[in-house]
Amino acid sequence: MIDLHDTLLTFDTHIDIPWPDQNDAWTENTSRKFDTLKAHKGGLKAVCLAAYIPQGSRDENGHEEAWQRVQAMLDVITRLNGKKADIQAKVCHGSKDIKKAVEAGSIAIVPAIENGYALGDKPERIEFLAQKYGVRYMTLTHNGHNLLADAAIARSDLNDASTLHGGLSALGKKTIQIMNKHGVLVDVSHAAKSTMMQASEISEVPIFASHSCVRTLCDHPRNLDDEQLDRLKETGGLIQITAMSPFLRKGGGATTTDLAQHVAYVADRIGVEHVGVSSDFDGGGGIEGWQSALETPNVTLALEKIGFNKDDISKIWGGNMLKLLNKSEEMKV
Ligand SMILES: [Zn+2]
Repeated sequence: MIDLHDTLLTFDTHIDIPWPDQNDAWTENTSRKFDTLKAHKGGLKAVCLAAYIPQGSRDENGHEEAWQRVQAMLDVITRLNGKKADIQAKVCHGSKDIKKAVEAGSIAIVPAIENGYALGDKPERIEFLAQKYGVRYMTLTHNGHNLLADAAIARSDLNDASTLHGGLSALGKKTIQIMNKHGVLVDVSHAAKSTMMQASEISEVPIFASHSCVRTLCDHPRNLDDEQLDRLKETGGLIQITAMSPFLRKGGGATTTDLAQHVAYVADRIGVEHVGVSSDFDGGGGIEGWQSALETPNVTLALEKIGFNKDDISKIWGGNMLKLLNKSEEMKV
C-alpha cells in the first residue's frame, strides 16, 4: 500500500537558512531542521527558502547593509542546486518548474525574501531580484516598521512608536505594484493588520501570509483575526499555518494536532482553498511531532486524523500555493 504522504506534492512555504552560511545543506547530521537529506527522508518535496533580513535602522547605512546581505543570502540559496548520491535539489522560478522538478524526484527550492527592508528606499530593486534569483515572495516587513509599512510587532529598541505610517507608506504602495508586475507575491506575515488590510486592496494579485496562525485560537500579534481571514477569502488569498509553538497555543508546547486545528478553523471559516502549512524551520519553528523536515509525514497524519480527505490534504499541502504562484505568473507584465 502506498502511503498518502508519498503521493503528495508537499510544499513548505517558509524556511529560513542559517546565517552566516555553514555550507552544510548537503551534510549528514547537521543541527539544521531543514537540509536536503532530512527533506528527502521526510518526503518534503518543495520549499520556499527565505533570505531573512533583520530590521535595522531606517537610514542609508542600514539599507546598504540589508541590500548586500539579501544578495549574499540569495546567492547561497541559488547554490543549493545540485545532486548528491540519490538526492537532488533544484532551484525553481515558476510553478511549472516546481511540478516538473518534483516529478523528476528533485526537492524544489523557491527563493523568497523576509523583510522589504532589503530594498531600502529603492522598490525597483525587486525586479532585479526576481529576474536574477527567481524570488517569488517578499514579506513587507519583519518585526519593526520599515520604509514600506508598519509591522505587527513594533521595535522599541529601534525607537518604533506603535505606528509609523498607519499601514502602508506611499513607497510601500508603489512597491506592491512593482511586485505584482514581476511575479513576486505580497507576503503579509509580520505586517500590521492595517498594512495587511490596505495591501489586500492595492495588490492585484491575491496576498498571502507565508507563516502565520489564527488569532481566535491563539491571541498573538503575529496571527490573523477573523476579519483578516474573511478578507483573504474575498480576495482569493492564502494563509499558511506555521509550526511556531507560541502562535499555535498560549504558553507554547504545541503539537501537530494544534497545527491541524488551526488549519481546520480556517478551512471551516473561509474554505480549504485558502489555507496551507509552513514550518518556519531554522527561524524558530518546530513543534512536537514536526521538529524537523524528517518528521513531515506526521503533518499529513494530523490532517487525516482531524478529518480532511485526500483532496483537501493535497490542496493544503501545496495545491493552493502552486495555484497562487501560477496566478501571479499569469498576471506578470
Ligand atoms: Zn518570520
